[in-house]
Amino acid sequence: MSLSYQVIPVGELQCNCVILFDEKSKECFIFDPGDEKEKILDIVKKLSLKINGIIHTHAHFDHVMASSQIVKEAKSDISVYLHTEDKKLWENQEMQSASFGLNSSLDTPKVTHWLKDNQELKLAENKIKVIHTPGHSPGSCCFYIERDENPLLISGDTVFFGSIGRTDLWGGDMEQIMKSIKTKILILPNETEIIPGHGPSTSIKNEKGHNPFFI
Ligand SMILES: [Zn+2]
Ligand SMILES: [Zn+2]
Repeated sequence: MSLSYQVIPVGELQCNCVILFDEKSKECFIFDPGDEKEKILDIVKKLSLKINGIIHTHAHFDHVMASSQIVKEAKSDISVYLHTEDKKLWENQEMQSASFGLNSSLDTPKVTHWLKDNQELKLAENKIKVIHTPGHSPGSCCFYIERDENPLLISGDTVFFGSIGRTDLWGGDMEQIMKSIKTKILILPNETEIIPGHGPSTSIKNEKGHNPFFI
């Protein structure tokens, strides 16, 4: 289970794109390619990785903007993952970016795999567990990854360092996000490292002790 990762903040909203890769097979998943396709593909090339798929923690435009370009430039078929309940957001990208005062005529790739809670994805021999955590958006998901080192959680815009995702955008729900975090995230092992959708990394232990939303 030799998994490594690189975090690349991209775009105007500095979304953390994560390249998760198996050191042996060089297969990778790209999480949330929110913009700056060149920056992302440069790293893929430098590390000689093969892209197996693009996984979206949710369908907000700042996590999606480079997805289509990456799919188009790939030499082989790339799977595209999203939770079913973010379908509506996925299909309304322009309305979303306009509400942030940004102008983009964003084209999204076809979703090839609709995610479900508790589903298990595989990257070479490694298992990635899908945890559906609605609240920031209806289809927001976190991804739990066991490794030789501390486990990882890619948390999208659900949990941040010292904060949680906003719930005032379409489909957001404060009660739901709190329930998702308390029943599905804070029960994970304390040593789990969290890579949020924006900002610095943290851990379950750190958030349990310091996040003003939970203590
Ligand atoms: Zn978001
Ligand atoms: Zn975001």
